[in-house]
Amino acid sequence: MLKITEILSEAECYNKLRTMCWPDGQVLCPKCLSGNSHKIGQEDTKRRYKCIDCNRHINDLTGTLFQSSNLPLKFWMCCLYLMGLNVSNRQISLELGVSEKTAQTMTEQMRTEIKNNRPKTTLSGEVEFDEVYVVSGHKGHPASVKKGRKPRRRRLKGARGRGTLEKEKPPILGMIQRGGEVVIRMLENVQQKTIRPIIEKYVAKGTTTYTDEYDIYSQLNNWGYERHSVCHSAGEYARDDDGDGFCEVHVNTMEGFWSLLRSWLRPHRGISQEKLPAYLAFFRGGTQYQKMGAWIT
Ligand SMILES: [Zn+2]
Repeated sequence: MLKITEILSEAECYNKLRTMCWPDGQVLCPKCLSGNSHKIGQEDTKRRYKCIDCNRHINDLTGTLFQSSNLPLKFWMCCLYLMGLNVSNRQISLELGVSEKTAQTMTEQMRTEIKNNRPKTTLSGEVEFDEVYVVSGHKGHPASVKKGRKPRRRRLKGARGRGTLEKEKPPILGMIQRGGEVVIRMLENVQQKTIRPIIEKYVAKGTTTYTDEYDIYSQLNNWGYERHSVCHSAGEYARDDDGDGFCEVHVNTMEGFWSLLRSWLRPHRGISQEKLPAYLAFFRGGTQYQKMGAWIT
């Protein structure tokens, strides 16, 4: 069998990493952020530099999550590529010829890195809000399971109610600017006091917002937003409020995003709530750069 890592060039992977870290070609010292350094040696893979301002020796991997890895950089690049194709950890381990545990550690580290380096985003203009509930327990984290918790039943009896983190069905709040970026966050629950700080952090005051009729959004006007709601329970999915012939009151863009997210999460067969936020960040990061045509209106 042909192994992808056998035909990848380690030097090209280093070139790619350098352009990712330093897009304008200037080496930045990760320790003192100076752009003043000189190259040592002639390697075409991992280059070494000396920072003129702080006198430290650095290399292409200093300050990255790859710096302490024993694997060649091409294994990491290849892993990232396969993650972009939504390949499972098991399949990644087979493609790279590493153990499943190693593949799992690599994907986890990269997802976490992406989550921790999310660019600052402010949504404005027309923004749709919506929430979904994902089944997510404590797979692989038995210590987090509450003592005395009853086993999960196949079917919930009686009133279903809204999902919460504690009920192992955490809500995910989505906010999408039409024609712009999206922000998604896993929540403990869907109470107004939970969603308000998140909305205020990511959505500019005065923004026109679209929601369904759910009452957690009822205070949006008091929080400084203009709110329009579509009444799903009355069979309404889009409404023309201003009489211009366009049904602008809808949350279809957010719902389109949820259907992509659901298909994306499916191959991973149940993600623990400890890991779910990192999966969300990776999926969200990917969608920002894809051609969004079909589902961004
Ligand atoms: Zn320095």
